[in-house]
Parts: sequence; C-alpha cells; structure tokens
Amino acid sequence: MSGVPSAAWDAILERLDDAATLARTDAGIVAMLRLPERVLEVSIPVKMDDGRLEVFTGWRIHHDTTRGPGKGGIRFHPDVDADEVKALAASMTFKTAVLDLPFGGAKGGVRCNPSVLSLGELERLTRRYTFEILPLLGPDKDVPAPDVNTDGRVMAWLMDTVSMASGAAMPSSVTGKPIALGGTRAHSGATSSGVTVCARAAFAERDMPFTGSRAVVQGFGKVGGPLAFLLSSAGMRVVAVSDAGGAVLNEGGLDVFHLSDHVERTGSVEGFTGGDPIGGDELWDVECELLVPAALGDVIDEKVAGRLKAKVVIEAANGPTTRAAEPVLDRRDIVVVPDILANAGGVTASYFEWAQSRQGYAWDEELVATRLRARMEDAFTMVWARAETLNVSLRRAAFVVALERVSEAIEARGLFP
Ligand code: NAD
Repeated sequence: MSGVPSAAWDAILERLDDAATLARTDAGIVAMLRLPERVLEVSIPVKMDDGRLEVFTGWRIHHDTTRGPGKGGIRFHPDVDADEVKALAASMTFKTAVLDLPFGGAKGGVRCNPSVLSLGELERLTRRYTFEILPLLGPDKDVPAPDVNTDGRVMAWLMDTVSMASGAAMPSSVTGKPIALGGTRAHSGATSSGVTVCARAAFAERDMPFTGSRAVVQGFGKVGGPLAFLLSSAGMRVVAVSDAGGAVLNEGGLDVFHLSDHVERTGSVEGFTGGDPIGGDELWDVECELLVPAALGDVIDEKVAGRLKAKVVIEAANGPTTRAAEPVLDRRDIVVVPDILANAGGVTASYFEWAQSRQGYAWDEELVATRLRARMEDAFTMVWARAETLNVSLRRAAFVVALERVSEAIEARGLFP
C-alpha cells in the first residue's frame, strides 16, 4: 500500500468543517482541531550492516489528546511525510471518538524502505526512532500500534525500548504486541470481525437477509482474508475475490478455505481452480448485495460508483471511496459504511489490549469477541440514528458523532491555563 496523498490533510479539514456546520460546533474548537496539537520530527542515525551510517527521518504527531492518550499506528514506508502522518493522526481522533474509546488521535512514521533493511538494521532503526520520540510516549500519553510495514515484532522492540529507558516493564505503552508480552487474544481478526458486524447491521436496517446473500471482497490480505472466512461462515456466498495478482469468480460461492490454502501456497488468488479468472476491474460489475473494498485507497471513483451492483458497501480499507464518488453512491441509494466506523475493530481491540495490560489481567477470547461486537454495534446504531435524524450519509453522520464527542470533551476540560 502506498502512502496517503499529501492532499489528505485538506481532505480531513473538509470533513471537519462539514461536520462542524452540521453539529454547529463552536468556532474556537474547530480552530483548535484544524491544527495538530504537536508535531515531532526526528532524525534517526542507524549503523548499517556494511558499516555506513544512514540517517532516516521520522515523525510522531498528536492531533488531539483531549479524550485520552494519543492512539495510532507507526508506519515504515519510503513515501511517508509529515502531511500524511498529520492527516492520519487527525483521522484517528475521529475514529477513536466514533467508537467512544478513551483515546485521542496520533500517528507515527519513518521514511524508509523496510524491504531492503536487514533484521538488525530494522531493529536498530526502530529502537533509535522510539528513543527519539520517547518524550511523547507512555501509557497515559501516547500508545502506538502496528501500521503499514510494522508488526508485532516491531511493537515488541518498541515496548522493550520504552521499558529499558524508564527502568520498568511498560507493556501498556504499546498495542499489537505478541501475546507473550501481553498482547490480546483475537487481535489479528478484529478488523474483519468489526466489518462483519457492520455488514450484518446494515443488512438488518435494510431488511435484507444476510444468509444466502452474495459478497464481493477486494483484497485478500490481513483484513480481506479473514473477512471472506467470516462472511462465508455466516452463510453468505462469497462470489468474487481479488488481490494484487488477479481476481476469481464463482457465482455459486467460492470455497474460501481452499482459496486461502491456494493463496498461502502461491501468494495470490490468481490460478485458483475453484472459480473462473476475471480482470481486477471486472470485480465492480459482479452481481452481489455486499461489496467490501479491503485493499487500497481511492478505488471507487465516480465511474466505478455508477457500475456497482451492491446495495451495501462496507469500507474495510482506509479511504477507498473518492469524494466525487460519494454523491453517485448516495443518489443510487447504496448504503456506505465509512472507514472510520467500518474498520475500527482493530483499534477497538487495541483499546482492549491496553486495558488488559494496565489491569495485568488477560481476558479470554470470548470476552474480547463479545465486547468487540458490542462496541461496534453501539457505534453503528449511534451513527445510523444520527444519519437518519440529519438526513445525511453515514460518513457525514460518523464525523458529526465523533466531533460532538471531541468538542464536548474540550468544553468540559476548559482551556489551560
Ligand atoms: P495487506 O497488505 O495485508 O493486504 C492488502 C491486500 O490488498 C492484499 O491481498 C493485496 O494483494 C491486495 N491488493 C493490493 N493491490 C491490489 C489491487 N490493485 N487490486 C486488488 N487487490 C489489491 O493489508 P491489510 O492489513 O489487509 O489492509 C487492507 C486495507 O485495510 C488497507 O487500506 C488498510 O489501511 C486497511 N486497514 C487495515 C487494518 C488492519 O487491521 N490490518 C485496520 C484498519 C484499516
């Protein structure tokens, strides 16, 4: 996945302004949210395996921490820049608020190409970056998580660096950790579970049967893969799936178990014999009731929006729908559950991990799953109701719900000093 374009900050400001108009938010509060709270840019010198010294640039940005510690991932990518990290931090402010999690919005990134770094170089980079942003971190200040090209192993190094620097074990300083360090059960499937909750709820609101309906999923990675399983276990027919290598269609329903096996062996859905190959672009024309983009941003543009057969679109990916496509989908009365709600299962599981690490008490898998479902259902119900009251799309309503929670918190705390 490539980085968010630098126009991302303008796009988030547009959403903020729109929500502020609908919610009649105080102009001073809007002015506060139009700027990030703090931006830390750091240089990261790393001794490479060949003895050279290379200097990388990294950022950690807090957009707003009124509702709680900053929460947001850390990405390692050659295209990362301050604008992108700022926009992603702001979007975390709204995502955590929609789910009513006691967090603010933060994000971090290092401009590097992790695919050419050795394991040792990656570890030294992670540890030095963590040390440089240490003044911002801590269980009550800012709690990072994995994002693009970072994983549990990187989070373990981060947790260790924070712990060594403070002279105490600090498991609640980071989420997405390995279970051995206090990571939560059911973390890896949490985003897909949340997407499934939203799909079920949207079908129920539209009086559409979930069981027996057809689903199309773009992307078969960490989100799309488990999601296809969940949908098909729930009785849906997953009729088409695509990934970077190709796309496959079976109108009778793909055997997701065998498809997953095939992807594990070959690295792509391409060549799967349990369906017919189709072009990646033909995916949009497949007859279905549910479409889940779970790969890249900006894939549903104005043209694609006019072609879709689905009645419900759940945005598992971040930003899969362009601004120009939104009115087309609205006109066609297609329900679109927006990314800040639809893919918030992951950050909700991160919240549960943080809570468990603070408690020093691991929850069993069932408790995590039950609480995740309840959180997602509550958020969906709240956003759906607000969309009906305001007669606006779910996306605009989600931003209104989030902004109201953030501005209520800002008002309640008052202005320091
Ligand atoms: P991933 O890298 O594991 O998987 C991405 C999938 O998209 C792969 O199957 C890849 O082959 C496919 N893909 C890439 N280019 C494609 C193309 N042109 N056409 C069709 N498929 C293509 O990533 P992921 O973690 O599954 O994330 C997917 C999306 O969900 C991203 O937008 C991410 O930001 C968002 N998201 C992920 C999480 C999470 O928990 N992983 C949480 C919130 C949001």
